[in-house]
Amino acid sequence: MKSNGSSEVPEGAKGVLECLRSKRQFVMCAHEKPDGDVLGSGFALGIALKSLGKGVVYFLDDDVPNNLRFLPESDLPQRTFQGVADDAIFVFMDMSDQWRAGKALEWVPRERIINIDHHLGNQRFGRWNYVMESEAATGSIVLGLVVALGVSVTPDIATCLLTALISDTGCFMYSNADPHTVRLGASLMEAGADKDRINEQLYQTRTFSGQKVLGRALDTAMLTDDGICYSVVTRAMLAEFGAAYEDLEDVVGALRAVDKCEVSALLKEAPDGAFRVSMRSRGRVNVMAAAALLGGGGHFRAAGATVAGPLDAALAALLAAIRVEMAAEARAGQ
Ligand code: 5GP
Ligand code: MN
Repeated sequence: MKSNGSSEVPEGAKGVLECLRSKRQFVMCAHEKPDGDVLGSGFALGIALKSLGKGVVYFLDDDVPNNLRFLPESDLPQRTFQGVADDAIFVFMDMSDQWRAGKALEWVPRERIINIDHHLGNQRFGRWNYVMESEAATGSIVLGLVVALGVSVTPDIATCLLTALISDTGCFMYSNADPHTVRLGASLMEAGADKDRINEQLYQTRTFSGQKVLGRALDTAMLTDDGICYSVVTRAMLAEFGAAYEDLEDVVGALRAVDKCEVSALLKEAPDGAFRVSMRSRGRVNVMAAAALLGGGGHFRAAGATVAGPLDAALAALLAAIRVEMAAEARAGQ
């Protein structure tokens, strides 16, 4: 199966492919709060590399979210570097800078890093960088690599990669799901990906406590006159319902669905008192740029950052950053 209409290998891929072919052990690395794109991409490439006789370690300083535990390989991630060889290559996926991988991976030197990503403004932090901003998911890029490596796309690989695509496109609903992405999805279904199971897990299965927190977050949401719909989830709220951070996935999307909302934002209080911010745009305002003002990043319509507390200060900084980009959009539209 080809990843796209041509058999040409895109430019950035050459060095990455050469490295994948020549080195003998790889450590798959995910960003903090891992999602379907980063885990699906990592497991898919891991399975492919193992089939070529390579050593593969999945490093994850986090738990695999419950709704992604159906993924092949999802019981293999480890929190230590046990078994990692001195010359192992670290494959960072789905992140625009190395720090998104968390403290445990800060020590990894550039010379040992492959960086595969689709975010705008990727810092090219690896020795080998393969970044395609036009792709809807890192999984699309990994599919191209798997094919170029000459590995056949097994049902397991296909399920991992379709999970990546479905995760980052909201089941092909968001504007990043272009004909190319949908075609890749179709080819993964043909290769045996279990689409129904993926959607059931990602979009139709919620914990009761998670639904309760969603209800509270919607109940307490604010809508500003200029179209910012935001809400806050504190640690106390999570504790009250016995909910987990991963239960908050849908909240910011539900806020964006409000008809008068241009930009939605959710502030999630982290254990250290800082706030993890998620932002979504209806399409006019660049929330990636707003997130960048706060030290984060992401995509035009979906982005995030971490903002220092207390809540009043975090909220003021967040609203100010969004309004900078709203003003920029208004000027551009004049
Ligand atoms: P989410 O709101 O789902 O956590 O993230 C939305 C998008 O923004 C994702 O593509 C994610 O990778 C990116 N993103 C979220 N938080 C951060 C951050 O702190 N830094 C950067 N660079 N990107 C982020
Ligand atoms: Mn992604």
